[in-house]
Amino acid sequence: MTARAGAETPPSGGGHDDGEAAALVRLDGVRKTYGDTTAVADLTLTLRRNELFTLVGPSGCGKTTTLRLISGFESPTEGTIRINGEPATGVPPERRDTNLVFQQHALFSHMSVAENVGYGLEKDPDVGADEVARRVESALDLVNLTESGERSPGALSGGQQQRVALARALVNEPAVLLLDEPLSSLDRTLRKQMQAELRRLSDAVEGSFCYVTHDQELAMAVSDRIGVMRDGELVQVGTPAAVYRNPASPFVASFIGDTTLVDGTVEPAAGGAPTLTVGDWVTVPVATDATGTVTASIRPEMVARTDDAAADHAFEAVVRERTFQGEAVRYRLAPVGAAEGVTLAASIRDTDAPLSAGERVTAAITGDPVVFDA
Ligand code: ADP
Ligand code: MG
Repeated sequence: MTARAGAETPPSGGGHDDGEAAALVRLDGVRKTYGDTTAVADLTLTLRRNELFTLVGPSGCGKTTTLRLISGFESPTEGTIRINGEPATGVPPERRDTNLVFQQHALFSHMSVAENVGYGLEKDPDVGADEVARRVESALDLVNLTESGERSPGALSGGQQQRVALARALVNEPAVLLLDEPLSSLDRTLRKQMQAELRRLSDAVEGSFCYVTHDQELAMAVSDRIGVMRDGELVQVGTPAAVYRNPASPFVASFIGDTTLVDGTVEPAAGGAPTLTVGDWVTVPVATDATGTVTASIRPEMVARTDDAAADHAFEAVVRERTFQGEAVRYRLAPVGAAEGVTLAASIRDTDAPLSAGERVTAAITGDPVVFDA
């Protein structure tokens, strides 16, 4: 699909785009309150052209409200939204170059799949019947439903219905497709298929996708960039790898991927790297400017079995829990000498000699824990 006419218009050369020529949507200091409830506290966010951007965060953090603000179903209490460089204030949803796909995709059961997809276009006086037919066909092709145009939505599986909803949103070729947890009602296998599909779609069409989910695993798998929200604010934006490797806070570290957060102490470097000491069971080099009391994030894959019990970063532990995960086994290890209740998640490749609960193991911290000022 190509971008609709008008989406090609470059952002107006005004001084307000911070030089971000690639900005398609720009939110500046956006706040949205409902009575005493603050749904979005202070959001400054840029969606770039042709990207798949995912907003993640716990339930109630303001993700849906953000999409509704961008699509024009809500107006900001404070702050500005610009789309294609133009202020969106006062522009109703149907005149914005955006399209919102809801979690619940209400398809018309008395219409065929093709009629459902073309419904919005047919009401557009600028689009002729031939053009509607061509666009519907191309939208159905995009979601792999080429042969299903004449079928009734009721005859389709849940995943296929979700694709019809996607096709219906893609058919008017929006510059920004806003997706609010569209896969959350699907089972895991279908969700995996649809997430691959989303990535493929995002590469195939010219518009940007702004995708909302509380499923961080999915976010990491498909996104160009992730924005992590908490309590109505964006707390970090970056590529999945950057956010995973360099979380900005303990909250992000535990929300994006699995981790164990432990309290420790950083000693400044005496010629070498500073060291992090956790309890009296392990000391490991870290890259940080922090000193004194810290919170450290130790990812499961940073914990390995070792034969070298004398190494600084090695420790003795008791296996508390073992969860088989196929390619690796997830253990919970209780380090010997650690405070009561301290356990460390460890992801260890399955071997001929798997560990069982209660067993003792020599383990080591093999990566660099990320350290936060406590
Ligand atoms: P999320 O999509 O991240 O779960 P929402 O954007 O739906 O979060 O909601 C953010 C907060 O704003 C929640 O506390 C929610 O209850 C509140 N909220 C959202 N919409 C409304 C509304 N129309 N009226 C009152 N409160 C609302
Ligand atoms: Mg929501």
